[in-house]
Amino acid sequence: MKIKGFIVVVFALLLLHACKTIDSGKILTVKGQIQANKMGITLTHEHILVDFIGADSINEKRWDRSQVIRKVLPYLKRLRDLGCSTLIECTPAYLGRDPLLLRQLSDSSGLNIVTNTGYYGAGNNKYLPTFAYTETAEDLANRWIMESVEGINNTGIKPGFIKIGVGGDSLSGLHKKLVKAAALTHLATGLTIASHTGPAVLAFKEISILADEGVSPGAFIWVHAQNEKDPTQYIKAARMGVWISLDGISNDNLQDYVSSLKTMKANGLLGKVLLSHDAGWYKPGEPDGGTFRGYTVLFEKLIPLLSENNFSRKEIDQLLIENPARAFSVGVRKLKD
Ligand SMILES: [Zn+2]
Repeated sequence: MKIKGFIVVVFALLLLHACKTIDSGKILTVKGQIQANKMGITLTHEHILVDFIGADSINEKRWDRSQVIRKVLPYLKRLRDLGCSTLIECTPAYLGRDPLLLRQLSDSSGLNIVTNTGYYGAGNNKYLPTFAYTETAEDLANRWIMESVEGINNTGIKPGFIKIGVGGDSLSGLHKKLVKAAALTHLATGLTIASHTGPAVLAFKEISILADEGVSPGAFIWVHAQNEKDPTQYIKAARMGVWISLDGISNDNLQDYVSSLKTMKANGLLGKVLLSHDAGWYKPGEPDGGTFRGYTVLFEKLIPLLSENNFSRKEIDQLLIENPARAFSVGVRKLKD
C-alpha cells in the first residue's frame, strides 16, 4: 500500500509539473505573445510560401502579398473549420520567410501563426547568405538574438522559435557552426530549436553540440525524424528529452505514422511526439504559385485511423495540443536543470 501511495503521489506531482509548464508557458506568435494553454490544436511544421531561388537571388519583390493571400487564405480557413488554432510556419530566412505576410494571414484567418529565426544549411548551403560562411557562431547568434529582441527587419514581429537546417552524411564545420549558433541563441532567448535533420546520425551529432554548450535535449526538435527508418532511434532520442517531429503526413504514408505512434505509445513516449504535414506552399515564379498541398490529412484521415487503433481522445489531444504547447513554450532549458 505504501508503495502504491508513493507512486500515486509521484504521479500527481509529475502531472502538476506538466500542467504548470503548459499553464505558465508563453508562445510568441506573429501578433505577439499568447499563453501556451491558448494555443489549442497546433500543426507544428507547415509552410505558407517557399522560394527555392537561393540566398543570392531571393527578395520579397518576387511575390505579391495580395496574390499569395488570395491563394492561401482558403486553406487556412479550412484549417480553422477543422478545429486547428495554431500553425507553426517553418520557412526560414532566405527561403521565403515573410513575417508581414504571415501577420496579414493570421489576421484574416484567425489562426495563430508562429515564425522563426535562424539559417538553413541543408540543400548544399544554397539558402545561406555569404556572411554565414565567414562569421562566427557568436556573430550569427547575435543576429538571431537581435531579431528576437527587436523584431525581424523592422517589422516588430518576433520569432517564436529557432529554425536551422543541416544535411549531408555528417555535419560539416559550417553546419556545426549553425547548431552552435542555435545553442547560443537558445541560451539568450529561451526559443526552442527546430532543426531540419532527417537521419538519426545527424540528430545525435546536433544533440551533442547542444550539450557542449549546456543546452538540454528538451530544447531540441528533431525535424523530419520520419526519414530515419529505425524507430529505436526515436525511442533513444525521446528518452533523452528530444522532441520527435513526425512531420510528413500525407495520404500515402498513414500506416507508417500509425505504426511509429504505436511504438512510441508502447514505450510511454507519446509525450515527446509532434505531428504535422510539411505541406503548403505558394511557390513564387510558378503560375498562380503552383500546386498547393492543403493541411487536412491529419484531421480527415490520421485522427480517425488513430481512433480505430485504440488511441484515446486524451492521447490525441496530447499529440495535438499539449505536446506543441510544451515544445514551443519560451524558456531556457539547460542541461542540468
Ligand atoms: Zn518544412
